Amino acid sequence: MSEPEGEAIDCVVAGAGVVGLAIARALALAGREVLVIEAAGLIGSETSARNSEVIHAGLYYAPGSLKARLCVEGRRRLYGYCAERNIAHRRCGKLIVANGAAESEKLAGINAHARACGVEDLSFLDGAQARAMEPALHADAALLSPSTGIIDSHGLMLALQGDLEDAGGMIALNAPIEGGTVTAQGIHLHVGGAEPMALNARSFVNAAGHGAVALARAIDGIPADAIPNAYFCKGSYYSLPGRAPFSRLIYPVPEAAGLGVHLTLDLGGQARFGPDTEWVEALDYDVDPARADVFYAAIRRYWPALPNGALSPAYSGIRPKITPQGAPGADFRVDGPAEHGVGGLVQLFGIESPGLTASLAIADLVAEKLRAG
Ligand SMILES: Cc1cc2nc3c(=O)[nH]c(=O)nc-3n(C[C@H](O)[C@H](O)[C@H](O)COP(=O)(O)OP(=O)(O)OC[C@H]3O[C@@H](n4cnc5c(N)ncnc54)[C@H](O)[C@@H]3O)c2cc1C
Repeated sequence: MSEPEGEAIDCVVAGAGVVGLAIARALALAGREVLVIEAAGLIGSETSARNSEVIHAGLYYAPGSLKARLCVEGRRRLYGYCAERNIAHRRCGKLIVANGAAESEKLAGINAHARACGVEDLSFLDGAQARAMEPALHADAALLSPSTGIIDSHGLMLALQGDLEDAGGMIALNAPIEGGTVTAQGIHLHVGGAEPMALNARSFVNAAGHGAVALARAIDGIPADAIPNAYFCKGSYYSLPGRAPFSRLIYPVPEAAGLGVHLTLDLGGQARFGPDTEWVEALDYDVDPARADVFYAAIRRYWPALPNGALSPAYSGIRPKITPQGAPGADFRVDGPAEHGVGGLVQLFGIESPGLTASLAIADLVAEKLRAG
């Protein structure tokens, strides 16, 4: 069977978010010819620009899941890469704070779960020890995670882009991939935008974040049962003016529904609370000021000094979910030929948190799946 007309290329990666860039870099460093194709006019303008910028330790995921494995491995790799490439970051640590006997009892369970995920550096603090570290804190007990940190995610993406380009890779911007066909030789792709083109890629990686499900459906020959549904779960953040009251990230003991209203810091020392959870039908990043109202009581349990009216709407991000509201959360999906039967194709679905932390480890897994298939 002859290939449809188009420029021949070794690897195409769809999406220049942190995950697509990390994958493209890994493939280029392994000696492959790589073109990243990005619908937007700049790199990292979707979920990779709308997150907490936390380097997660990996405490809460299901032991043995991709999220757990790739978070722990990705975190180690990321600290090494930050040091090597001078990417702004801070290993500031995080406190998980318990108030009351019921919450204090839960800390031992969190520590045991973290150990099962390969996180063995947590330590228990009593209230006085926690307050010695963070004087503004109200806590009966706490767990300290010393390997949690924060990172300049744009600095990371620029470093990944630099490595990719030094290894001969390229990025095409304003270039949405509109569809394609699986062929005997790889994947034929139609790219739209101002300069439409047709490409014949020997390998194709779908790292299109929120667009990954629609893109997979637009490529003839990818089995429909290998493509999940897409759902959106928005998280809004509210910032606190002035100096942050804490120097570490502060998380309450998780509730049934999520991680609770927690405080993260940026590298400039600004504090913000969130993200909350709101299931939405479409990508809409507006932040509703009224949603902050429910934060006050939750935050005052560990920071009683929070002044009335202190929180202002900051920004939001949307989690790329593959299971709907009420269903159990899904693991990352990094599907290669072994999963869907199409040679030279890897598709990533549901790359929500800890995708930033895990990005370098996800990239290695994708490269391994392409080598195998
Ligand atoms: C609220 C929130 C908080 C988070 N906090 C953290 C955190 O603290 N730590 C952490 O580790 N992780 C965190 N995450 C997760 C992390 O942000 C994501 O896992 C990561 O950014 C995903 O990167 P990505 O490259 O897969 O997706 P994206 O950054 O969304 O990139 C996908 C790209 O694909 C492009 N695209 C889409 N369709 C097409 C197409 N057809 N053709 C070409 N290009 C296309 C898009 O324009 C986009 O640029 C958080 C996520 C959210 C939502």
